[in-house]
Amino acid sequence: MKLLVKQDCPQCGAPVELTEAESVLYCGSCGIRSMVQSNSPPRYVLPMAGDASSAGLLLAPYVRFKGTIYLVTESGIDHRVIDTTRVASSALGLPPSLGVRPQAMRLQRIDPAAENLFLTQTLKASAILEKAAAVGNLVPQIGQQFLHRAYIGEHLSYIYLPLVIKHCGLHDGVTGDRLCDLVDFISGDLANRRYDDGWQVRFVATLCPQCGAGLEGSSDCQVMTCPNCHSAWGVTPKQLVRLDWQMQAGDSATKLFLPFWKISTHIPVLNIYSFADFVERTNQPFLPRPQWRSRVMSVWVPAIRLRPKVFLLAGRQATLGQWRLRPVTAKLQPNFFPATLPFSEARQAVKLMLAASTASPRRIFPMLPYTRLTEMTAQLIYLPFTELGCDWVQPHTGVTIGKNILKFGRTL
Ligand SMILES: [Zn+2]
Ligand SMILES: [Zn+2]
Repeated sequence: MKLLVKQDCPQCGAPVELTEAESVLYCGSCGIRSMVQSNSPPRYVLPMAGDASSAGLLLAPYVRFKGTIYLVTESGIDHRVIDTTRVASSALGLPPSLGVRPQAMRLQRIDPAAENLFLTQTLKASAILEKAAAVGNLVPQIGQQFLHRAYIGEHLSYIYLPLVIKHCGLHDGVTGDRLCDLVDFISGDLANRRYDDGWQVRFVATLCPQCGAGLEGSSDCQVMTCPNCHSAWGVTPKQLVRLDWQMQAGDSATKLFLPFWKISTHIPVLNIYSFADFVERTNQPFLPRPQWRSRVMSVWVPAIRLRPKVFLLAGRQATLGQWRLRPVTAKLQPNFFPATLPFSEARQAVKLMLAASTASPRRIFPMLPYTRLTEMTAQLIYLPFTELGCDWVQPHTGVTIGKNILKFGRTL
C-alpha cells in the first residue's frame, strides 16, 4: 500500500498529494515541478482526531520501512517484500506498531514552527530492519552461513504519533485511546528533544544545471532529463548529479526503452577484471571469446522497481548478454521509460546480481563476504524492447518483463 503525504506547492501554495516514492512534486495548478530535498529521511506526523492541531504536542517516533530484503545463503537467494512501521522509542505504553494507520491517512510533514517535543529515539532504524528481516524468516537457519544481505527499493521514513496528556493519563492523539497512566509513562526514559535543523526539507525548482531549461520526469522518477541539451540527472536527496547515459539502438519493432544501470567494476578477490574473467570464474556454460578479455566486466541492474524474482532474472540476463550490446551516445526519445531505481540502490544490488548470474553458486557464494568492488563506474543505458503478447522482450539479451509487472513496479 502507498503512503500519502499532504503537501502545499512551494511555488503557488495549491494543495498537492505525494506518495512516499515521489521525490518530484508536480503541481497541477501552476505546472511547476519541484524537487524535495533533505539531508535525512522524511519525517511525518499522523493527523489528529477531528482535524485538531498537533502543534506543541509530544510526538512519539516510529520507523517505517518498505522495500525488499534479499538474503544470500549457501542454499540460494531468498527475498521478502517488507512493509513495517515499528515504534522507535522505549517509552512505556506506546503501541508497538502503527498497523495500517499510516496508509489509511494523509500524513503531514513535521513543521518546525509547530514547536513539538519529540520523544527520544532509542531504537536505531538498523535494529528495526533486523527485526523485520527476522519476522520475514530472512535469517539464516541454524548451522547455515549468512553470506550477503541487501535492502533494495527501500523507503525509510519516520512517522510520529501525537500524544495527548489529560486526566493523569497518556492518550493516543489519533484514536483518543488511553495508552497508560502518566505516572508509568514519566517513570521511563523521557529525555525529549526539539526539532533538529538537519530534518529540514528544501524544495528546489527542477531546472537543468547545464542549460537552465525545465527538466522532465514523472513524480516517482529518480532520473530527470533535459529536453533541451539531452542531459540526464540523478535525483539524490541533496542535489542533482549529472549522469553518463547512452542507448542501445532499436529498430522498427522497438516499442519502448527500459533503463538499466551498467555498473563496471573490478572484483579483485575473485580475480574478475574483464567479462572473460567473469565467464570463467562463474563457470558459465559457454567459452569466452578472445575480445572479451579487453571488455571490462559490468553488472547490469534494472533501473526500475520490479518484483524480486523478475528483478534478479532481468539483471542476470542483461549481465550475461552484455557482450551483444553496443550502446551509443544519443538524444532523448519520447518512449524512454522513467528510471525509478536510483544508483544508490542499484549499487547495493551488484553483489546480489553477481550471485544471481553465477553458474556455480558453490564457487561464488562463500566469497561474497570478502568481495570488495573497486574502480566502480556507472552509466545509465536505455535498452530497446519489443512487444510479444503480454510481455516486453529485449531482443539482444532475452530480458523479458511482463507488461503487468512493469505497471506494478510503479506502485511497489
Ligand atoms: Zn503550484
Ligand atoms: Zn539542459
